[in-house]
Amino acid sequence: MNIAKKKLPDILGSRSLQAMRNRLQTIKKNYETAQFLADLFISLGRPDLAKRIANCYRRLRLEIFPPNPVSIISFEHCEIRVCPFCSYRWASQLAKKYEPLIDRKARQGQMLQFITLTVADILILDRAVLDEIWACWVNLRRQKLFKEVVATLACLEIKRNEINWHPHLHLILIGGKKISEDALSISWYKLTGNSYIVKNRPAGFSIFNLITYSLKITEIQNAEDLRQLYSSIDNYRLLRGTGKLWGIKASVSRVPAESFNNGPMNSFNIDATDLDEIIHNLDVLLGGI
Ligand SMILES: [Zn+2]
Repeated sequence: MNIAKKKLPDILGSRSLQAMRNRLQTIKKNYETAQFLADLFISLGRPDLAKRIANCYRRLRLEIFPPNPVSIISFEHCEIRVCPFCSYRWASQLAKKYEPLIDRKARQGQMLQFITLTVADILILDRAVLDEIWACWVNLRRQKLFKEVVATLACLEIKRNEINWHPHLHLILIGGKKISEDALSISWYKLTGNSYIVKNRPAGFSIFNLITYSLKITEIQNAEDLRQLYSSIDNYRLLRGTGKLWGIKASVSRVPAESFNNGPMNSFNIDATDLDEIIHNLDVLLGGI
């Protein structure tokens, strides 16, 4: 496999080559994470999930349509929620749908608010814990504070440190007046019984990044972490909208496996085992540009 040396510099500028190199490096890192999770699934007695996650994103195709950046598509997905490839793919599909809807409302003059609601540290994560957070949010949303808000989007982010889980909600509110952090904090504390830390930040950052970052799968250290996280979020909605943001689903377009050998012009199939060599070739190329 020597595609990088022979053909790519004729087609791509150095910026696209650099972007491609970074993308392939991320894929390589994700393979390591997926393999680590596969080993943990084995120790949890789930060889079926181990096999699926270890085989995710293994056959890739680079598609190049100058002057656009390269796109790297995959033909095989495991669809496991904690998979580094599938979780990002799923989150970015949703983000691409929500972002224009939210931007349109902002352009129409509706106010946007970005709120974070935190929850006290949690030792053992399970679905009941997450259901409780959602129930608190539903109750909060019904309060007077939110009276003029016309649509909401809530993303449940789950972080982990060495001891505890830190679930928290990122909210995007459309319409209404600015909600004070003090009023929000009092209401959130009444509902949760132990959590009062809230933030209401000004708008002005990427909605796409907010959604994809919130839904990023947390770093898992061991089999017990994986067991708790997987059983909590598998087939579970981490993103919930109301108003015009209700009912939006990821519709990931699948590339049929048979099209693997019938790519458009300037496309290259890559096998996972070739990744190191391609990255090395790109480094050599970039060094010489
Ligand atoms: Zn996957």
